[in-house]
Amino acid sequence: MNDQQISDAVTQVLDGYGAAPGAAPEQAVNQTTSATQGAPVAQASEFVSDMVANILADAGSVPAAKGTPAFVPGSKRCCWQPAASGEDPMDAILAKALASGLGEKKAGTSAPAAKAAVTNPVVSDEEATTLGDGVFATMDEAIAAAEQAQRQYLFCSMAARKAFVDGIREIFVDPATLERISTQTVEQTGMGNAAHKIIKNRLAAEKSPGVEDLTTDAASGDGGLTLVEYSPFGVIGAITPTTNPTETIICNSIGMLAAGNAAVFSPHPRATKVSLLTVKLINRKLAALGAPANLVVTVQKPSIENTNAMMAHPKVRMLVATGGPGIVKTVMSTGKKAIGAGAGNPPVVVDETADIEKAAQDIVNGCSFDNNLPCIAEKEVIAVDQIADYLILCMQKCGAYLVTDAAVIDKLQALVINEKGGPQTACVGKSAVHLLDKVGIKVGDEVKVILIELPKEHPFVQEELMMPILPLVRSPSVDDAIDLAVDLEHGNRHTAMMHSTNVRKLTKMAKLIQTTIFVKNGPSYAGIGVGGEGHATFTIAGPTGEGLTSARSFARKRRCVMVEALNVR
Ligand code: NAD
Repeated sequence: MNDQQISDAVTQVLDGYGAAPGAAPEQAVNQTTSATQGAPVAQASEFVSDMVANILADAGSVPAAKGTPAFVPGSKRCCWQPAASGEDPMDAILAKALASGLGEKKAGTSAPAAKAAVTNPVVSDEEATTLGDGVFATMDEAIAAAEQAQRQYLFCSMAARKAFVDGIREIFVDPATLERISTQTVEQTGMGNAAHKIIKNRLAAEKSPGVEDLTTDAASGDGGLTLVEYSPFGVIGAITPTTNPTETIICNSIGMLAAGNAAVFSPHPRATKVSLLTVKLINRKLAALGAPANLVVTVQKPSIENTNAMMAHPKVRMLVATGGPGIVKTVMSTGKKAIGAGAGNPPVVVDETADIEKAAQDIVNGCSFDNNLPCIAEKEVIAVDQIADYLILCMQKCGAYLVTDAAVIDKLQALVINEKGGPQTACVGKSAVHLLDKVGIKVGDEVKVILIELPKEHPFVQEELMMPILPLVRSPSVDDAIDLAVDLEHGNRHTAMMHSTNVRKLTKMAKLIQTTIFVKNGPSYAGIGVGGEGHATFTIAGPTGEGLTSARSFARKRRCVMVEALNVR
């Protein structure tokens, strides 16, 4: 390698790191330092010298230096930065990335990434709702920033993506952060149980799949080699519910970023503050890890108008709605690729072959979890007549308060059902103790569920109440119970449970009810990976068929074909 080639190589590296072409090395390092908000000059210098060493090694002049890892958290080595001139033509970025190998894992550098200590970010309650750190005044600004971020993100390595996703996980497994966002959610939405929300948020952080979900298919033969890979959509618009505001942002951010996208969130207005806090925590952590700025964004004042603006924006290539039937139908009518994760009314069938004591415990646990807010939670029991009395008795022993007085049932109905026949918002996600108190019954905290035997036509049976009122309907036989369960699920194809040891009846119900989640002999939450096998998600897409969403749900399949080559058989 001659002097001119070495000089060209150095210029190429500096260029790619944000310096104007031809800039002096010191100038490049200075620009880098300001662009990374105080990243040490030494880090930038080390990066430059590593890259020069790798280029020289590629050229055969010297041995590869250090065996450097593909990505160092906290460094900027994962991504191309826009040129200092502000021009960022895709062709130029792509050419640079391909020329130097930056952003790709280099041959011979398979050592595990050195883990720089990047502490969790601090965002005060006052700061949580101010502009900055991914929070924008308008939807247009938020989407423009996310689009720019995603273009840069395209050139980050998979190791970098993994580090960013792991960074998000790290924020939300921290006990203090979990307690903070869970408590705030209950305070702001007036719904749910903070201790259970801690479990849900931790679950989202730990068990939402990351980059490992993006498997590649390959076909090889005389014609060459064809790869089918999961590739990002670009900017995804994600609408989140009031019932799981932070869990959905954590889970969607992990999956969407793992798949290479940027995410624009449209939270429920009632959960504004805690949703903005969650977005800010993610942004600050990602910034500390050297990710492109604004990969996860939202607006300062979430509203239906802002959600509509997001859905209509041409730069938003995919919509993901987690919520009730209205918003799911709306995203599916936009003409864009949409994932709809809608309402459920999960029935649980108990037949005469079940382990009744265990069934009782599982049903009370599942139904009372987060005060019945989860869309998967048991909403009504259908018990075969033969075991119904014993099941009720067992449930009472597990924390169910049995209401038999018709006057109390009427009072409860007046309290929790609104004029449209749906659940009264003020009662959604309230505890059994609270609801009983409102109808004049004082009970202790051991009461988890209000159990009422009712006919199938009753609104408590028909409606998705999202509160721990659990109606029980008797059925003469397991076959009748299955038919009724199918009826009460209302074709949502969401979730159902069955307690039985009769494999034929379990299979029959699974086939007939066609739910995305079908839990046998366990509580509903086993269906999202708590005590059951499999990954977690807080976006369960029955209507559009993705099922329990994960990173690959937020990706497009693309085919890459090498003709008449790379077939080595
Ligand atoms: P919701 O439908 O009232 O609101 C969901 C989101 O959609 C919110 O961000 C809201 O602001 C927005 N939205 C609602 N109507 C809109 C409209 N007309 N225009 C624009 N935006 C609109 O639901 P919720 O009360 O927040 O959540 C509870 C519902 O979500 C339940 O039905 C529950 O079953 C469902 N849910 C489903 C899943 C799932 O994975 N399938 C997960 C959680 C909740």
